[in-house]
Amino acid sequence: MERKPLREFVAPVVKVIEETPTTKTLVFDISGVEFDFYPGQYVMLKVPYPPTGEELKRAYSIASSPLQRNRLELTIKRKEGGKASVILTTQVKEGDRFFIKGPYGKFYWTEELSTRIVLIGAGSGVVPLMSILRYIRDKGLHNVRATLLVSYTSYEEIIYRNELEELSRHSNIKVRITLTREAPEGWEGLRGRINADMILREVEDIPANLYYLCGPPAFVDDMKELLLQLRVDRKQIKTERYD
Ligand SMILES: Cc1cc2nc3c(=O)[nH]c(=O)nc-3n(C[C@H](O)[C@H](O)[C@H](O)COP(=O)(O)OP(=O)(O)OC[C@H]3O[C@@H](n4cnc5c(N)ncnc54)[C@H](O)[C@@H]3O)c2cc1C
Repeated sequence: MERKPLREFVAPVVKVIEETPTTKTLVFDISGVEFDFYPGQYVMLKVPYPPTGEELKRAYSIASSPLQRNRLELTIKRKEGGKASVILTTQVKEGDRFFIKGPYGKFYWTEELSTRIVLIGAGSGVVPLMSILRYIRDKGLHNVRATLLVSYTSYEEIIYRNELEELSRHSNIKVRITLTREAPEGWEGLRGRINADMILREVEDIPANLYYLCGPPAFVDDMKELLLQLRVDRKQIKTERYD
């Protein structure tokens, strides 16, 4: 695949969306910037850190679809004790400007790679997978069959809840959410960590798919091991580790 050119630019935040009590989406205005990427790729963000005067550099997956030309969205989950993620989820307001560089990464999908994909994520690992689903929806790729299997700790922590529900109404997109710690009464989704049984139940013709795994390193390693045991070819598994 052809590489997308690397760009550096400064962009203002035009909207801050509260996704969950710990997670925010920052929407940047990138009109006027020539920036293109494949769904699944990430950018490096420079984050001023007032307590020490440092300028932190952190990787954030792009949440929006490349078809949305004027806006770039990043979704950041606060890590207790973390530096950049705490600033980004508590201090940032409309009008703040950030230095952004990208796109980076080989964890991406386009319709040329496969028309059957399974996206597996945990927590903020859903972000690049969302970019892929938004791209499929917005480009009207009805011949692509995508399954998203994502785990969150609780109902309150489901990132993109409403949009995932909307996406699941498309006949070629299947969304399955599992809650690992607590679920509200009447919860009709899955419970517990993603395991072989879930994959066997939710994914048709397991070896025929291309897999995208994203989340904490231990999660990605576990999922990869699980897929290899289910006889998925190593070359059919793409991973992104958020360490
Ligand atoms: C390719 C890629 C894409 C990513 N995309 C996203 C995304 O879309 N959304 C997202 O939310 N995150 C994403 N991340 C993670 C992100 O880059 C940051 O790592 C995350 O936001 C935490 O940064 P921080 O500065 O808040 O934490 P840091 O200050 O770097 O700390 C990270 C963790 O280490 C702990 N820690 C810090 N210092 C110590 C210490 N001395 N001893 C023990 N523990 C310590 C902290 O408590 C914290 O939990 C991505 C990472 C990669 C590599």
